[in-house]
Amino acid sequence: MRRPAFIAVAALVLAATTNSSSFAQVTAIKAGRLIDPEAGTVATNQVILVEKGKFTAVGGNVAIPQGATVIDLSQLTVSPGFVDAHNHLALTYKVEPERNSYYVTTILESTPLRAIQAVSNGIQMLAAGFTIVRDMGNNGNYADVALRQAIEQGWVPGPTIINSGIIIGGMGGQFWPTPEMARDHKIVYPEYLDADTHDEIIKAVRQNALFGARVIKICVDCKPWGYTVEDIALFVSEAARIGMKVEGHVQTVDGARRAIEAGLWSIAHDNGLTDEMHKLMAKKGIWRAGTETPITLLEGNHTNPARYAKTVAGLKNAYENKVNLTFSTDADYYVPGKTRGEVAIDFIETWKAAGIPPVDILRAMTIGGYRVSETENKRGPIKVGMAADLVAMTGNPLEKIDAVRDVRFVLKDGAVFKANGVMTPAAFFHGGPVNGANIR
Ligand SMILES: [Zn+2]
Repeated sequence: MRRPAFIAVAALVLAATTNSSSFAQVTAIKAGRLIDPEAGTVATNQVILVEKGKFTAVGGNVAIPQGATVIDLSQLTVSPGFVDAHNHLALTYKVEPERNSYYVTTILESTPLRAIQAVSNGIQMLAAGFTIVRDMGNNGNYADVALRQAIEQGWVPGPTIINSGIIIGGMGGQFWPTPEMARDHKIVYPEYLDADTHDEIIKAVRQNALFGARVIKICVDCKPWGYTVEDIALFVSEAARIGMKVEGHVQTVDGARRAIEAGLWSIAHDNGLTDEMHKLMAKKGIWRAGTETPITLLEGNHTNPARYAKTVAGLKNAYENKVNLTFSTDADYYVPGKTRGEVAIDFIETWKAAGIPPVDILRAMTIGGYRVSETENKRGPIKVGMAADLVAMTGNPLEKIDAVRDVRFVLKDGAVFKANGVMTPAAFFHGGPVNGANIR
């Protein structure tokens, strides 16, 4: 007897809740200025409607539905969220205790510890306005996959993660281990996945796909012998069968030449990218994730004056050659007093030094990032049908790019993560997989 009565009451409560919340499900954002980075324009006094995590209307004449939750950003400039096309969220090396050698970090810190660190770094990136991060390896035993799954299932807030799983290299990866440490103790794995023969290349790509990678990252020339054009092309074709693109770590001109000839999707780091390579990249539409460390990171030896001058000249040359540009940092270290997001944002200094106009810096940080991440048709632009991600700042970054340093508001999948400059992540924490438990 008691049971049916309880169910009836529960049904009434449920009905009432559903009715009242159907109004509140619409969020209306009043944007004082709204930037379209692609067009390079700013529209004033816009209204953006959000429902079920997606944009449903954007424009100057959009009526705000009765009962909608109104967010007033009329004093701010609204922009699509930023993308860091190359980060390592589950890796943070430091002066103490490892003297900024990530080799040591991989020995001292367990994958579970690094996975927790990745959650924190992800939150710090989101707070700085990065709504998408491409997480390109060096994340222990698939901590990047765990981070992506935790965010996608709805346990914790964070950027949308496009992750590579384990970096695939020829034997040794980026390490130069002793024979006993490599052969007897297998110290290279899981930081790198050895693949030297064609069978091993196919198997390594499939391993990363099986364990949750969304993009493949390879070491093109981490060893002087490196991968051949044929090897790289095999990576590209095997990844394509699974629906994934391949990014290559490239550090020499010769490596860049092979990577470009084989048709890699994106090239990480600028060391091997000369004027000739840029021209070839532009012709093939290959993305540049140059990871242009700013001179502000002189301390900690993350760059030096000669290296920085080369980086600035290289970025300027890439821009002049109309290479597809992304904003990328390779930020995988601790800078005392700064969050991971603040470290990443500081990379605009290099872009400014290269003389790139604010609109094109913002394009690299937004559209370039969506395209290299292949999210541009579902996430990124503030357009009807897209996932409701956006940021807002006090200044106008099209006039002065430094405005991106002061992100006051962040919306992710339609929920407010930051308002009035303060993180408000309560809506993102859940005790279970609210977005589904079967996210792989
Ligand atoms: Zn890297």
